[in-house]
Amino acid sequence: MSDQTSYPGVVLVTGGAAGMGAHHARTLAARGSHVCVADVADSSELIEEITAAGGSASGHTLDVTDAAAWTSLVDDIRTAHGELGGLVNNAGISRRLEFMDTPDEIWELTMKINLFGPFYGMKAVAPLMRESGGGSIVNISSIAGQIGYFSPAYSSSKWGLTGLSKSAAGNFAQWGIRVNSVHPGMVGTALLGTTSDFIDASLKSVPLARMGTLNEITEAVLFLLSDKSTYTTGTEMTVDGGLVSNGLYHRVIAETGELS
Ligand code: NAD
Repeated sequence: MSDQTSYPGVVLVTGGAAGMGAHHARTLAARGSHVCVADVADSSELIEEITAAGGSASGHTLDVTDAAAWTSLVDDIRTAHGELGGLVNNAGISRRLEFMDTPDEIWELTMKINLFGPFYGMKAVAPLMRESGGGSIVNISSIAGQIGYFSPAYSSSKWGLTGLSKSAAGNFAQWGIRVNSVHPGMVGTALLGTTSDFIDASLKSVPLARMGTLNEITEAVLFLLSDKSTYTTGTEMTVDGGLVSNGLYHRVIAETGELS
């Protein structure tokens, strides 16, 4: 029996110009997919890197908050490739602001990018995925979409995305389209930063006692895109070093050093 894993022929990754999205894109391309990298930022350097390494990728300008732009991007993909088997809704922003410090504009912008974007995206790609014989959608939520996180805009948008993923999973199953959410813990990208008192303090609640690597998140995303997860839909995959499941008592025991 072969242990080969296969991935969709064409995968669209939003927010793919930098951070985790870029790593998903370069890894998918290395494993044989054509990757459509969509971002508000320029992705030409990444496309050159992927192409130089023998992979196949194209760069597309997309603001995920623009529903019409999604439609036109999917039209372009249909014309160029005639199929789409994977979507990673990865684009996202985070502002670490407590409730009363959150301006209305930040609330709106965060909801638009992190929640409305994936809604427009799933609506736009579903018909082409259906015509392609089905597919897999991976929505990048966060542990902030599973616990009470102090920043209301980020937490609400990511909780919304957790629910949106389950709703879409139920609706799209009839077309052979699976939808799952991935919930990274702390990963050192531009969004989180690599050093700060906030990170040091947060790490004390991580049983595995470190941040996650880009690769550790990518492997979870690629599993959900691949033919190794064909019976998995509507689920949450948490990749957080044990923070959500055990963070509280990990910290309590470390701080008190005793159990009674
Ligand atoms: P990042 O800031 O490094 O990259 C985000 C990318 O999204 C950038 O390339 C940016 O240009 C793009 N983007 C932003 N707004 C956009 C828009 N309107 N349209 C299209 N593209 C847009 O961030 P990252 O850490 O790689 O985060 C990727 C995803 O993972 C996000 O959804 C984030 O919320 C989530 N996440 C990150 C962490 C972490 O610790 N870094 C933890 C949990 C979840």
